[in-house]
Amino acid sequence: MLAKRIWNRRAFVLGAASTLLGATVEQPQVAITIDDFGWQEIPEPWRARASDALLGALAEHKLLAAGFVAGKRVDSPEGLRIVRQWRDAGHSIGNHTYSHQGIDSLGLDAFEADALRNERLLGPLLKSPKYFRFPMLKEGATAELRDGMRGFLKAHAYRNGAVTIDASDWYYSARLSDRLAREPGFDWNRYREPYLKHILDRARYYDGLATVLLGRKIRHTLLIHFNLLNVLFLGDLLERFQRTGWRLVDAPAAFTDPIFDRAPNTIPAGESLVWALAKESGRFQKLRYPGEDDVYEKPILDELKL
Ligand SMILES: [Zn+2]
Repeated sequence: MLAKRIWNRRAFVLGAASTLLGATVEQPQVAITIDDFGWQEIPEPWRARASDALLGALAEHKLLAAGFVAGKRVDSPEGLRIVRQWRDAGHSIGNHTYSHQGIDSLGLDAFEADALRNERLLGPLLKSPKYFRFPMLKEGATAELRDGMRGFLKAHAYRNGAVTIDASDWYYSARLSDRLAREPGFDWNRYREPYLKHILDRARYYDGLATVLLGRKIRHTLLIHFNLLNVLFLGDLLERFQRTGWRLVDAPAAFTDPIFDRAPNTIPAGESLVWALAKESGRFQKLRYPGEDDVYEKPILDELKL
C-alpha cells in the first residue's frame, strides 16, 4: 500500500514535470479546417482548378483537413462532385448548415431545421464522428439558444467542430476578388505576404493565449475558407507554418485534444474556443469582441493599398 502510494506520488511528480517541460519546449501544432465551399464565388480563370489546387497543397504536405460544407454552396452536381472529391482524398466533411444563416437571426427551431437539411443533402459524405460548425462561429446570443443547440447536437451525435485559431481570410479574399474585378491585371502576388503575416500573427496570438490559459500546448484548428486567396496561397501558408516552427497535424487528430470537450459558459456564445475559454475565465481583461473581423484588417490593407 505504501509502495503504491509512493509510486503514485512519483508518477504524479513526473507527470507534472513533463507537462511543464512540454509547455516550454513543445512545438505548436495546427490543423487546417476549410469552410463554406463557396467555389462558385471564385473568379475565373481560377474557379475551374480551385478544388484541385487546394487539395494539391494539402496532398503535398500529406495533410488531412476538415471541410465544413454549407449546403447551398454545393447543392448542384458540380458542387457535390467537389465534396466527394474531398471525401475521396481522405478529408473529413462536416456540417456547416445549409443556408449559412446565424442562429440569432433564425431562432432555434429554424436553425436546427437548417442543420438537418444540410445533413440530408450531404448524407453519407458526413464522416463519423460527425462535426458541426456554427456559421460565423456565433453559437447564440442567449443561454436558451446556446443550450438548446448544445442539446440538439448531442441528440444528433454531433461534436462541435470548434475553431481555436480564428482569422479573417474571407475579408482578404473578398478584397482581392473585388480588386481583380475592377483591375484584371492586378498583381495578386501582392496579397501573399500580408495574408501569411495575418494568419501567422493570429496563430501566435491564440497559441499564446491558450498556453497561458491552460498551462499546456494544445492542438489547434485554424479556420480558413474555400476561396481565391487559399487557392493561390494555401501551399505558401503551410510552408510558412513549418518554417516558423509549427507542426502540421491532421484535423481528426487535432480534434482529439481535450480542449474540444470544453463548452464555455459565455454569452454571447461562440468565437474561437480559446477566446471563449479565456473570456469565461475572467482572467483576461483585454479580449476584443468580436475576436476577429474585417474592421481590424481594413486599415492594414488600406495602408498597403491592397
Ligand atoms: Zn462559414
